[in-house]
Amino acid sequence: MHRRDRLRSALNWMNGSTLLGLAAAKLVGCELRPASRGLIFAHHYSPRLPKASAFTVGNVVLFRAGPEVVARRPRLVEHEARHCTQYALCFGLPFLPAYFLAAGASWLLTGDPASRNVFERGAGLQEGGYVERPLRAALTRRVSAPRRLRSSDPLRSRHSSGQ
Ligand SMILES: [Zn+2]
Repeated sequence: MHRRDRLRSALNWMNGSTLLGLAAAKLVGCELRPASRGLIFAHHYSPRLPKASAFTVGNVVLFRAGPEVVARRPRLVEHEARHCTQYALCFGLPFLPAYFLAAGASWLLTGDPASRNVFERGAGLQEGGYVERPLRAALTRRVSAPRRLRSSDPLRSRHSSGQ
C-alpha cells in the first residue's frame, strides 16, 4: 500500500469514520471485502437512501452492486477513494455536516446536490457519474440582465432619437 493510502487509512480509523462505515454496512447486511489502497468495500447496500449507486463513510465504500459490477467501474472506485481522503482531511465525521451543507448550497444554485458541491467536484463529477448542471435560470438572469435606463439617462435619450 502506498504511504499516502496507509496514512489515510490510519487517520480514518483513528477519527472513527471507518468504524461508523463498518457499523452501517453490518447493520444493513452488506457483504464486506478488503480492497486495494486500504479501502473496504461493502456490497449489496439495499436501503432506499441515499439514492446513489455508491457512497463512502471513512474508508468504507458502500455499493448497491456486487463485486463483479464494481470491478468494471474503476473510475467510480477512484471517485469514492477521493471521498475517503476528504474524510481524513475533515478529521472524520465533520465531513458529514460539511458535505450536507455543500450539497444544500449546490441544490440552491443548480437544483442538483452535486454540480456545485465542492466535495463532489473535488472527487470528480464525471467519475462519480454526475452530469454538471448549470446555475438556475433565475440566478443567471439576475447576473446578466441589462440595466434599465431612466428617462434622465443620456443613453436613453440618444437611443430614442435614433442615434
Ligand atoms: Zn461522490
